[in-house]
Formats: sequence, structure tokens, C-alpha cells
Amino acid sequence: MKRKQYIVNGRVQGVGFRPFVFRLAKEFSLKGSVSNTEDGVVIDIEGEEQNLDAFAQNLIDKQPPLARIINVEIREMHSRSHFDEFLITPSSPGTKHQVLISPDAAVCNDCKREILDPGDRRYLYPFTNCTNCGPRLTITRSIPYDRPMTSMACFEMCPDCMVEYNDPLNRRFHAQPNACEACGPRVWLTDTQGRELVEGNRSIARAAELLAQGKIIAAKGLGGFHLVCDAGHSKSVEELRHRKNRPGKSLAIMVPDIESAKMVAHINPQQETIMTGMEHPIVILPVKKPFILSPLLSPDTDNLGIMLPYTPFHIVLFHYLKKILSPDKPAALVMTSGNFSSEPISLGNREAQRRLSRIADFFLLHNRDILTRCDDSVVFGTDDGPVFLRRARGYTPSPVFLSGRGAPVLGAGPELKNTICLTKNDQAYVSQHLGDLKNLETYDFFLETIIHFKDILQVEPMAVVRDFHPDYLSSKYAQEESGLPVFNLQHHFAHIFSVMEENGFQGSCLGVALDGTGLGLDHTLWGGELLLVNNKSLTMERLGLFHPVPLAGGEKAIEEPWRIALGFLHRLGIEDDHDFSWMEKFDSQRKIILKMLDRNINSPLSSGCGRLFDAVAALLGLVQRIEYEGQGAIRLEKIQDHAETNYYETGMVRRDGLLTLDTLSLFGKIAEDLKSGTRPEILSRRFHLSLARGICGWVEKASRETGIQTVGLSGGVMQNMTLSRLLQNLLADKGLRVLTHKILPPNDACVSLGQAVYGRKMLE
Ligand code: ZN
Ligand code: ZN
Ligand code: FE
Repeated sequence: MKRKQYIVNGRVQGVGFRPFVFRLAKEFSLKGSVSNTEDGVVIDIEGEEQNLDAFAQNLIDKQPPLARIINVEIREMHSRSHFDEFLITPSSPGTKHQVLISPDAAVCNDCKREILDPGDRRYLYPFTNCTNCGPRLTITRSIPYDRPMTSMACFEMCPDCMVEYNDPLNRRFHAQPNACEACGPRVWLTDTQGRELVEGNRSIARAAELLAQGKIIAAKGLGGFHLVCDAGHSKSVEELRHRKNRPGKSLAIMVPDIESAKMVAHINPQQETIMTGMEHPIVILPVKKPFILSPLLSPDTDNLGIMLPYTPFHIVLFHYLKKILSPDKPAALVMTSGNFSSEPISLGNREAQRRLSRIADFFLLHNRDILTRCDDSVVFGTDDGPVFLRRARGYTPSPVFLSGRGAPVLGAGPELKNTICLTKNDQAYVSQHLGDLKNLETYDFFLETIIHFKDILQVEPMAVVRDFHPDYLSSKYAQEESGLPVFNLQHHFAHIFSVMEENGFQGSCLGVALDGTGLGLDHTLWGGELLLVNNKSLTMERLGLFHPVPLAGGEKAIEEPWRIALGFLHRLGIEDDHDFSWMEKFDSQRKIILKMLDRNINSPLSSGCGRLFDAVAALLGLVQRIEYEGQGAIRLEKIQDHAETNYYETGMVRRDGLLTLDTLSLFGKIAEDLKSGTRPEILSRRFHLSLARGICGWVEKASRETGIQTVGLSGGVMQNMTLSRLLQNLLADKGLRVLTHKILPPNDACVSLGQAVYGRKMLE
């Protein structure tokens, strides 16, 4: 007989960990106890040595779905115990827990089975959950994660639910949001005036009928409202786009099951694993042709964002919908964030009714309050796992583990796709996607989130790090509102710090930031940068850049990429060329723009890679005025002719000590070949191939000169999977170690992490 003590840390409280330990101990005939303490979950256990070993192995291998063990400390105990069974020791009130609140988890298979079983007491109950699934972050006000601290506090459990809650062997033991039809939240349907039409499950059945008739419904979900309509019904999709002021950007859909998803899109095993995992994100997938749903869902690309039902409510909705819609087509619903244009997602019933009544025809409401807004996450599914476009529901607040302990620091994030990051010990907590800090609604969400994160992590930052751009609302917050010591870090260095930290890399690294725009240290606009970062000594150097070109009208040029194309042509001295058909459209404005360029009026220089994509897309006639960020690049990527293998050599010159990649000549060659009649599809492919090769040569040269063999890739352009794959392969072929983002999006959502880790180093 031996006795051991295990102290387990990580996300091990509020996830059914103690009952799991209890069952495991029984399985191996072990005696002892398990309890939640300030130091973590403490297991005091006694039995035969081989059983103890098997127990320890299973503890790691079979941990509950929502648990994440980070560390297990093992102590050999020399005294014998007096245990004669295995017990779960109740937590003593007032114990401080190292609680990590779990992200919201998609409905589990056990709950799904109950919801669809006519004999079960939870048949079609839309708020069914258990210890292994259901809402967490979105219903939690503060820690400890206990029912009174959640929005379930106002629902008193019925005797049946109470029995489950108190039984260590029940799947609902200490499931804080546990509820049933008799005691839990309810749903109802209203018109735009807020008048209740039907209540309970009849309201979901009615909503299904209305959707089938082509109506738009604002449905309260897990982390906010969705705007919902039939994805097979072009008139509804068109109406939704019109009312939401979202003309071109792809709309995500939900289908009832993976089989239906496979009728709509090509899905490989990795993508299927991601779609059906506990996070259930929106996965961007190549559509099958002929496309069986509305062509208006994603007019600019051959990809579509698809997700599977992740709450019981979704399962119930599809249950009714499948009865109405014709069986030869999969039931598919548009589910897009319940907001107008770029505002944050709505969360309260009254707030939604106020903000969405001009978009939705009906409201499907419920009375379980959402305390934290959280959009759906959006990912690409690659062989290496998800590549994030948006990280929110299902992933937040899982931490990024840092390479060492340090002071708590807040990263305030940039302007677009803002997130905040708060560090605690050796962990960094990056918030859910907050949006573009361009309106007060989003700024309020930003402030709300900083307070909420300080609350759930019980941590007060000792410094804040802001973007080098002084006018971002996040920079102003840091400077004027935070009351903390402020550091500022240039945007693209923050990108590289971020990708290094995600990969646990310490030391000197080359960094390629392929981005839209960020204010550079020389006060031009950066975004196609070759950097050197040492995250130990905090050395930061700019080694190279894309050939800078003027953006005529500044911000205006980003909205109207033809101005950027004209900037390139002007630099090349071929601006008077009338061979490009799109030029006719702008004949009157063209003269003014050219004058601005001649005299260098309101035409800031930009080395942004995103701007190069915009310019090429405009040159090829794919886009003149954009409807959403990245539209030019998305259309450009779509049209490429994959049979083409030719590319242009992209040279580089050293100017003012900086290695300048000659993206100007690259643009010139494309313009020339376009004039002589080469198809845009071929030119687009050549552009992608040439740029990837050009960047690879550029990095190789810097690697030879500095002796650094590692390169980190970051920035919004890394969401272009064509360029991203080409570049990673080419660099790896040259023997370089390539770091990419795997936990956070490569876009500006990763900046706050880079800022926070930089701040910690500065404090040291
Ligand atoms: Zn469950
Ligand atoms: Zn109940
Ligand atoms: Fe950026």
C-alpha cells in the first residue's frame, strides 16, 4: 500500500473534475479524498502501487471534456491514512480558488440525446446543459464560478434538478446552469413592438414557420443575438443584407448536422474535427458546385462559413424546421451577428429590440441574461489545426501560456479588430473579438471587457501598453483613462512579439509583418515590413520594407483602391496610360488625384502589403470602391488560375540602409501584361506566386546578413491562405524555422498579446 498527494492545477474547477476523480478512484479501488483548495484540486489517495500508477495515467488521459490540466504536483506521503472509502470533500466557504472560467462549450452528445428523446424529461428543452457542456463565460459575472455569480441566480432549481446537482455520480453534479422545463429559463416570440405572440416551444415552432416563409428573425443566443433567415431563400438573404447594411461580405450559415454541411461544402477530416469539437466555431469551407443555397451568401469568394448547432435551442429550431422544409435540400439558416454594420453584437432583450427592430421582422427572446457579449469564432481548418480569423466563443478565455512569470500587464490593442490582453503569472488572457474601436458602442464594450477581465482574473495590471498611433481610442484610454504607467509599442513590432510568444520562442527572430496599415516610427504608414526582434533584450530593428507608394486622400484611398492603383502608376510614370478600362469611370476625379500625387498633397506614403493587394485588385478591375475590409484581396484570391506557374522575379534594393522589396516593379509588370491582353486570372496567380517568392528571397537575404534562422509571420494578409501556404513552404524549404499564429488570429486581434508581453519585459 502507498499513499500519494496530487495537486492539480489548470481549468479543473467547475468542469466536473472532482466527480471524475471520484469515479476514477472507485474504478481502481483506491481510498482517499478530493477537494477544491486555494492551491488547486488536492487529491489525497491510497492504494496498491500499480493502481495508483494507473490512476495517475488516467487522470491526464481521460480528463473531462472541459478540463485542462496544466500542472500536476505529486507528493509521496509517508504516513498511512485512515481512509476507508473515497470522498468528495465539500469546499469550505471562503476558500479562494484559482478558478479558470471555462469558455462556453457546445451542447454535448449526452444532452443532445436527451433533447431529442420524447421520453426524457428534457425533451426539446432549449436550455439543457450539463457539467460537460453549456454556457460559462457568457453567463458569469464574477468569480468564484458558482450559481449566485451567474445569470442563473434568479432561477431556483426544482427538486429533480437539485437531486442531479447534488449527486456526485450524476452528469449534472455542480453544473451551475442546470435547469429544466419546470424551473429554468423560457423562450417567447414577439413582434417588433415587443408584443408577446407565443410562448415556450410553440414560439420556436412558430419561428421555424416564419423563417420558412422568408422572414428575418432576431434570435437571442448564447453570447448575443443572431439575425436569422433561410439561407436557401435569396429574397430573404438580399433583404437581410439590405437592412443590415452589409452588401457584399460573406454571411455565415448554420446547418443541422455534418451530413448537411457536406452537401454544401467540401470538408476534410481535420475540418470536420474542428466543426464538431467542443468549440463549434464557424469554419470557412470551399463550397460544392453547383451551389445549392442562395448565391448571395458569399458573392466574392468560393468559400462559405459554416457552423453546426451549438446550443439546445438551435437543435430544437432545426427539429421544427426540418419538418417544414423540403427534404431534398438541407435546412440551412443564415446566422449573422445581431448588429447594425460595425456595432457590437446586441445582448439584452430591450437593447436588441431598440437596435434591431429595423432589421428583424420578429424577435425570439429568452430570460437567461447574457452577461458577456461573445461573437461566434471564425476559423480556417488546416492540417495544423485552426487558423483564426476571429477568436471568441468557445475559445475565450482560454489563456496563452507564456514563457515565464511576470508582472500583470494590460495590452490595450489597436483600433481595428481590437482585443485586450491581461496577463496573470505565466498566462495571458486575450479577450474575445471586440470589434473596430470607431464608435462609442464598441468603446463601451472595450471598457466593459477590461473591467470584466480584471474581475474574473482577480488581477490589477501594473502597466498598460498602447499602440504607437496616439489617436486610437485604445491609445487614448491607455494615456488618459487607465491611470497606469504607459508604454507604447509600434504596431508591427507588436505583431511579431505576439507570434514569437505564441510559439514560446525566446531570442532573436526575423519578423515579416504583412498587414494593412499601422503608423510607423518614421510616421509613414507601415504594413509590408521586415523586422528584427529580440524579445529578451528588447532589441527592435526595421530591416526592410515594401516599396512605399502614396495613398491619394489617405483613408479615402483605403475605401477606394483605384486611387492606390493610380498611385502605383504615377510612381511608375505611366499614369497617363488609358489602357485600363476602369479608368474611364473615374475620368473627372482622375485629374484631381493626379494633381494631388504630383504635388504630394494629402498623399501619405504606405508600405502596406494589404494596400498592394488592393492596388492589384483595382488594376485588374475587380474592385473600385470596397464594401468591407479586404474585399479586393478576397476577390483577387478567388479568381486565380491555379494552372498558371509563371511568376515575375521581384528584386530588392538597399535604400537608406533598408532592404526595399521592389513591389513597385512587380505591379508594373502586371500592368504591362494586362495591357498586352493577359487574363486577370493568370495575373492574379502570378502575383501570388511572385510575391511569395519575392518575400522569401528578401527574408533569405536578411537571414544571411544577420545569421538569424527563425522567421515569424504575422499580419492580416496572412489570412490569405494562398499566400500564407506558399510563403510557409518556400521559407521552410530554405531551411528556416517558421513561426505562425495558431492560438490567435494573425490579424490585429493578436496585437494586444504582443503589447502585454512587451510591457512585462519593460517592467523587468
Ligand atoms: Zn451536456
Ligand atoms: Zn428543474
Ligand atoms: Fe496589424
